[in-house]
Amino acid sequence: MTNEVWWRLGFFFSILVIMMLLEWRKPARQSPIKSGTRWFANFGLVVLSSVVARLAVPIGLTAVAIYTQQHGIGLFNLIALPNVIAIVLSLILLDILIYWQHRLFHRVPILWRLHRVHHADAHVDTSTGLRFHPIEIVLSILVKLVAVVVLGVPAIAVLIFEIALNGLALFNHANIRLPSAIEKPLRLILMTQILHRIHHSQVVSETNSNYGFSVIWWDKLFGSYKSEAKKTDNDLDIGLIEYPTAKQNASLWSLSMMPFKSK
Ligand SMILES: [Zn+2]
Repeated sequence: MTNEVWWRLGFFFSILVIMMLLEWRKPARQSPIKSGTRWFANFGLVVLSSVVARLAVPIGLTAVAIYTQQHGIGLFNLIALPNVIAIVLSLILLDILIYWQHRLFHRVPILWRLHRVHHADAHVDTSTGLRFHPIEIVLSILVKLVAVVVLGVPAIAVLIFEIALNGLALFNHANIRLPSAIEKPLRLILMTQILHRIHHSQVVSETNSNYGFSVIWWDKLFGSYKSEAKKTDNDLDIGLIEYPTAKQNASLWSLSMMPFKSK
């Protein structure tokens, strides 16, 4: 666990660079806004959110998991399960939790104020996968923290989950279109780029579908799966109609202030 930071950063930057190279060589769609403008806002928000999250919740989730394990707190620390079963169950339960958290952020108006910062992006690329308001990031950490304590999630499962969630968000937001020989079988299990772009459509019924970040199972199970949008992947209108200009949807200041302004 001492190398945790290096594992996380290693995976993060490797996947980020691979996705950006693929987007550069073979972009699926053209951005209506200059990439530099969007990236400054999106990556600026990542830096801001990381700093705010660190200050708001100064303790890491794996440190909490180690503490609960040492003190016998939480379900999996109370019942004797083989380690591998506890890890697999933890990953499944955490993923279902994130699915429902995402759905709740769409359903509850005050939470949607935060989450629309992510959806206001007029283009979807790997940087969109990181674009979340600092308050949404903090709330998400707190939800996971409660889950880690209640379930007694093993520290290694926390680390695997965090790396996977982050990596898959970079993957399924990437502005690429996998060859259909790969995409077709992959979408039977994973949320592919084409499926996730439906979630970023301006059509509300399409935005309120495909909530999963990793597997498609929870959307299938809870009735929110959509295999196709009304328009083709190429013609899909992306973003929020309420924020049509770059000044509204691609400036660090307006993204930071977006939850506090009614629209
Ligand atoms: Zn969403």
